[in-house]
Order: sequence, then C-alpha cells, then structure tokens
Amino acid sequence: MTKPYVYVTRKLPEEIISPLREKLDITMWGSEEEPVDHETLAKEIKRADAVLTMLSDQIDRPLLEQADHLKIVANLAVGYDNIDLEAAKAVGITVSNTPDVLTETTADLTFALLMATARRVVEADTFIKQGLWKNWAPFLMAGTDVHHKTLGIVGMGRIGEAVARRALGFSMDVLYHNRSRKQQAEASLGVKYAAFDELLEQADYVVCLAPLTEETKYMFDENAFSKMKTSAVFINASRGKNADEKALYQALVNGEIAAAGLDVFEEEPIDSSHPLLSLDQVTCLPHIGSATKETRQKMVELCFENIQRVLNGSKAKSPVV
Ligand code: NAP
Repeated sequence: MTKPYVYVTRKLPEEIISPLREKLDITMWGSEEEPVDHETLAKEIKRADAVLTMLSDQIDRPLLEQADHLKIVANLAVGYDNIDLEAAKAVGITVSNTPDVLTETTADLTFALLMATARRVVEADTFIKQGLWKNWAPFLMAGTDVHHKTLGIVGMGRIGEAVARRALGFSMDVLYHNRSRKQQAEASLGVKYAAFDELLEQADYVVCLAPLTEETKYMFDENAFSKMKTSAVFINASRGKNADEKALYQALVNGEIAAAGLDVFEEEPIDSSHPLLSLDQVTCLPHIGSATKETRQKMVELCFENIQRVLNGSKAKSPVV
C-alpha cells in the first residue's frame, strides 16, 4: 500500500521526522530559514494528502481549491490567521493548530519581554558591549517598576491567563478584556474584567494576546494609544497587525506612552530600517514566543498527531475547522 504523502513547508530536525517515515511519505522544504516559494508550495499542495505549514505561509483560496487530495493543513502555531478557513471549510479540508503545548512557553516569553522593556535589559546590555559604561550613576539605565503595578491583558485566553498567573507572583493587579467574561479566571486568579477603554486608561502595562481577526486588526490604533497613561508600556506578543505601527511610533515619539516590547510585527521579518527600530524605548524580538526546543518539538508532534488522525479517518486532536 502506498504511504500518504505529507509535505512540510520548512526543514525540521530529522530526528523528529525520521520515526514518522515508517507510515508516511514525508518531503520537507530544504531550508530551515527560507520559506518555501509559492510555485513549489502550489505544486506540493496539489499532490499532498497533508501539509504541515508555518505561520509565514499564506494558505489562500486558490491554493486550497486546487488541492485535489489534501485532507488537512496542520499549522505549526496556535494562531491561524495565515489560512483561509472559509475556503478550507468549503472544500472539506481540516485545518488544525497547536494550542496548549505552547501556552506556558509563550507566557514566559511575554513576561520576559515585559520585564526586559520595563528594566531596559536589552538597552543596558548594548550599552556595556558598546563600551559606553564609564561610571556607575544613580539614574543610569533607570527603568520602571513591574511589581505592584497594574497589568492589562487584552485577549485573556490560554496564554493571557498564564501571563496573569506570572503577574500575581509580582504582586500586580490584573485587569483583562475579552469579548466575554471569564468568571472562572476572575474567581481563581482574582483578575478583574474591564472594558477596553477602561483597561487602557488604568493599566501600567498593556499586553495584547488576542488573535488576529477582522475585529482585532489595528485595535491598538492612534485612539487606543492616546487613552493609555503616558508612563504605559505596550507589549505585543500576539500578531503584528493587531497594532498600527505608524500610530505606535507616533505615540512613542510624542510621549503618549513610554515604551513598547514587540515580539510580532505588521510585516515579518521587519525591515531593519523601520522607524520603530530606531527607538531605544522599543525592545524587539523576532517572533519567538513559543521558541524553545522542548515546545517546538511538542508543536511538531501535535501537528503530526493531527495529520495521522485525519489521514486515518478520525477527527484531528486540535481542529480549527
Ligand atoms: P486563545 O486561548 O484563543 O485566547 C485568545 C483570547 O482572545 C480569547 O480569550 C478571546 O476571548 C480573546 N479575544 C478574541 N477576540 C477578541 C476581541 N475582538 N477583543 C478582545 N478579546 C478577544 O488563544 P491563545 O492560545 O491564548 O493564543 C492567543 C494568541 O497569541 C494567538 O491567536 C496567537 O496569535 C498569539 N501567539 C503568539 C505567539 C508568539 O510567538 N508571539 C505564540 C503563541 C500565540 P473572547 O472570545 O471572549 O473574546
């Protein structure tokens, strides 16, 4: 019997893939860093029974409509804004994501980014390495406190709750904003629900962890930044397009907010000449929220579990549609 054909859009460690080859005919794109080109992706998706995709691959309607054998798109991410879900549904292709396995890891990174931005960790590191540290001084690289401050989480889902738990260890008050109330989190963590504007006005740290949807796109715009405290720190660990970068830049330059920590950008990779990167009060990371070796391995394993289930005629473990 011929094995089902699985195309993986990035080169993954062979030691993870190797045991799976017994049951699956797996081909991987040849590069770890460079994304697959559109022509190859179109050719492979037409032939494949399953594809394992990255968040940087745009899986649009024309690709899905020509996928004659495709049963599942297994996305190596919890977000799935890179896939046309309606088109997948229309042609009966399952889309799966990787929730839960990355929650704690992404919360660690989000909190690390918050701490690094508040205490100017990256700026201070660069300062020393550039040979600029000549004397100790009382206000040298003075940042702002995290403990006992107010954290506002927009998008209080799995990762949001995990960030809230970390914040409690720093004696922070936690506000959150979702479309729906989370009574259980309110009871177990003591977090308080706030309307979006109320959260913006009260929080010292505003952390975005909402998915990118038509509703959340550019929810952090000129108006939102203008409502924040002038001392506020904005952290985005969700998707770049949830914030309007031009408005963020203006808010920072005009002193409407104090600093920002960004793991995600409107266009990734961000161009090194982007104005935001010229600001000392901006700490940037290259979309590494879930990037630990342990978690990336679990994410790949979950993708393959979803693929194998669907190819065997069962429901995916973590389906989106
Ligand atoms: P989740 O459990 O689905 O949580 C998302 C939360 O956002 C939900 O509680 C949802 O609550 C809320 N939400 C949705 N639409 C909203 C809106 N219009 N306004 C306010 N809140 C809204 O997802 P998760 O696992 O925590 O992941 C969250 C996001 O983090 C992902 O979608 C992904 O984009 C991002 N992420 C980034 C990285 C990284 O590397 N930086 C890693 C993992 C995940 P309601 O439905 O009640 O509104």
